[in-house]
Amino acid sequence: MKFDTSIALYKEAEDHIVGGVNSPSRAYKGVGGGTPVFMEHAKGAHFWDVDGNRYIDYLGAYGPIITGHAHPHIAEAISAAAYNGVLYGTPTKLENKFAKMLKEAIPSLEKVRFVNSGTEAVMTTIRVARAYTDRTKVIKFSGCYHGHSDLVLVAAGSGPATLGTPDSAGIPTSIAEEVITVPFNDVEAFRQAIRIHGEDVAAVLVEPIVGNFGIVEPKPGFLQAVNDIAHDAGSLVIYDEVITAFRFTYGSAQEIVGVQPDMTAMGKIIGGGLPIGAYGGRVDIMEQVAPLGPAYQAGTMSGNPASISAGIACLEVLQQDGTYDYLDSLGAMLEDGINKHASTYGLPVQINRLKGALTVYFTDGEVENYDQADATDGEMFSRFFHLMLQEGINLAPSKFEAWFLTIAHTEEDITATLQAVEKVFSIMAKEA
Ligand code: PMP
Repeated sequence: MKFDTSIALYKEAEDHIVGGVNSPSRAYKGVGGGTPVFMEHAKGAHFWDVDGNRYIDYLGAYGPIITGHAHPHIAEAISAAAYNGVLYGTPTKLENKFAKMLKEAIPSLEKVRFVNSGTEAVMTTIRVARAYTDRTKVIKFSGCYHGHSDLVLVAAGSGPATLGTPDSAGIPTSIAEEVITVPFNDVEAFRQAIRIHGEDVAAVLVEPIVGNFGIVEPKPGFLQAVNDIAHDAGSLVIYDEVITAFRFTYGSAQEIVGVQPDMTAMGKIIGGGLPIGAYGGRVDIMEQVAPLGPAYQAGTMSGNPASISAGIACLEVLQQDGTYDYLDSLGAMLEDGINKHASTYGLPVQINRLKGALTVYFTDGEVENYDQADATDGEMFSRFFHLMLQEGINLAPSKFEAWFLTIAHTEEDITATLQAVEKVFSIMAKEA
């Protein structure tokens, strides 16, 4: 496969755009570098790059694309919105319709607000929780990603007693000191953090099913314990469902785990591929938000007709019977095939999968928390990534990311992918 045009475009991009990309993970740093492929056109489960190469896509734009690219129902909705005026700065009836759709699908959302990204949604839930509780600290779980606002870009301290340190330059230590990070799936560490900091903790922030160090499900009872312990201490529980809302079922991860948070942040799928975020929750908490309450949140683009139209159309597609069973069956086919080839070629592969989302880790052990995900073999993943790309399979360029299936993928796509996996594993086995 030739990438000459991508190579030239990346050189040009580096002259004009910092790092040549508009979001850092796109630069392939997570897989040992290389030239990111510049895509030109996408349809269904497939991408075509600027050199004319075709790929089967499992990146799914990091989550939003679940219907496949350029789904006609969504494309028509966006086109209609374009001709009807994309931005009004006034309320529209579309917003009412979409808010009702979300509330019907996710009962804990007694009131919602639309914003423009997952980052904004999470950032605002924290402000609202602080306003409601009149406390400042936040507990989060290591390896969960919650966007790039100051408070959530904080690395773990050395234990539940220690406060966080900034995970990025430009974040004051005074902000990082408001955050306590504990391991996912570890009730005792969480209990200890609450014991020490409880009176100051406004909220506990968690991905109920993790998507950011691969797909990692909570152990039975973990999230119920988090809810109970947090509530006993007077803290709120916020679920970051930016990846998980509408990913595994028509609804939320909170439905799957059977635990209700006080507030939920969403994004990605609910915009059908256009920029969106949303947050919502208990009415007494949401009424902290302006214009009703003292917690300020606003947005020029918030609730814009284009994003809302795309979101409604996307959910309408997902409402079709069998959507999630279909994603599950393709996911199972992919998982079984990869496992089979891994055992044939003696490679250490562990797959975490829920429905149409899976992570292929290069390790012999289970992955239930960030440390275990971090300990998986990054060099093997990088080799796998680049060889798969050569075979026309577009994966997320990081060992921590999921493969996202869409309803546009077919059994033929999976069969072709598994042929590529077998070829790539045979090369890797010889090199080992
Ligand atoms: N929360 C989670 C769980 C996410 O995965 C992401 C994005 N990967 C975000 C928040 C931030 O969303 P956005 O990129 O739309 O700001």
